[in-house]
Amino acid sequence: MHATVNRQACIRCGLCPSLCPEVFILPEGETAQVIADPVPGRCLVAAQGAADSCPTAAISLH
Ligand code: SF4
Repeated sequence: MHATVNRQACIRCGLCPSLCPEVFILPEGETAQVIADPVPGRCLVAAQGAADSCPTAAISLH
């Protein structure tokens, strides 16, 4: 599974790196970025949780 972040939609709330730090980071002054591709199997539940919790639905899993 792969994760992508829609940079136009991300409002830098900080939720995704908090919920799934192995996959998402939030660099200073930037939108969230994916650092694990593909998403490791041990992170699938957490990554799905981040996608479901993103307030702007900026995270896609595919
Ligand atoms: S949860 Fe969504 S809005 Fe918040 S930092 Fe992650 S991608 Fe951006």
